[in-house]
Amino acid sequence: MKGLQNLFNLFYPDVCVCCDQYLLDQEHIICIECRLDLPFIDSSDVTANPLTQTLEGRIFLEKGASFLYYHPTGKVKKLIYQLKYKNNEKVGVFLGEWFGQLLLETNSFNDIDFIIPVPLHKDKLRQRGYNQLTKFGKSLSTILNTKYLEGVLIRNTAAKTQTFKKRVERFKSLMNNFSITNPAILKDKHILLIDDVVTTGATLEACCIQLLKVENLKISLVTIALTE
Ligand SMILES: [Zn+2]
Repeated sequence: MKGLQNLFNLFYPDVCVCCDQYLLDQEHIICIECRLDLPFIDSSDVTANPLTQTLEGRIFLEKGASFLYYHPTGKVKKLIYQLKYKNNEKVGVFLGEWFGQLLLETNSFNDIDFIIPVPLHKDKLRQRGYNQLTKFGKSLSTILNTKYLEGVLIRNTAAKTQTFKKRVERFKSLMNNFSITNPAILKDKHILLIDDVVTTGATLEACCIQLLKVENLKISLVTIALTE
């Protein structure tokens, strides 16, 4: 089987998602060179790190972690692009397993009841065909030994309809853009909200405003990347 795989790779070699170079046998998704070159964020302190500092005073978080700095040009952008627009499910699994392992090592995410993704609006979901966070979230949930839950936190309107509104109106409608379909299931629970890239944090803030209406709910947050 291994021989067959090697033969297949000879004709259809996998390339690094960051630099398009052919991957060696022992490399997976990202070549070693790119992996060492990624702008990694140390989130081993889960209460004081660049992500928790970005959201300080806006969202009450139990714990938070983000792993990579996002630049408008650069390797992390390519990684996220593969995840978001190329339906590259392998990237989601790879990142989920990698970061899940790092979260496990912090020993701080043992009490998570559900992992919940920032949702897409149903039109966008239909258009894209998948939520780019699903594979990532499911892999995380396997490693952290918890459940992955979609459909409880939902997005009411597609982001596109917002573009023509003024900034203040946009902010207001964003803050009311999410709903909880089944608050009872989240009562007294500690959830881990996940997202791909945090820029201003406004979307996360909007999600948390709704989530925190649930009685005795605690929120932690994990994102793949954070805009520097
Ligand atoms: Zn590479």
